[in-house]
Amino acid sequence: MSDLDPTRRLSLLLGPPGPELTCGQCFEHLDRYVELELAGRDADAAVVGMRAHLEGCPACHEDHESLAALLRSETESPHA
Ligand SMILES: [Zn+2]
Repeated sequence: MSDLDPTRRLSLLLGPPGPELTCGQCFEHLDRYVELELAGRDADAAVVGMRAHLEGCPACHEDHESLAALLRSETESPHA
């Protein structure tokens, strides 16, 4: 059995390679990201790394879910 080299082991711990946001950056871009998503635009292209962060970070995932639900209900509420 050969040991994994340290770099490989670190990348396994950190998840897939690629740009990833910090929670602060995630929070900063969350509004825009959700708006683009709801508008049917390519939010992942606009905010690179966001999708990966949301998948790996339960706290931000939850923020995203609740913001999306909020904006969605605002969008769907009929203007009477
Ligand atoms: Zn986060």
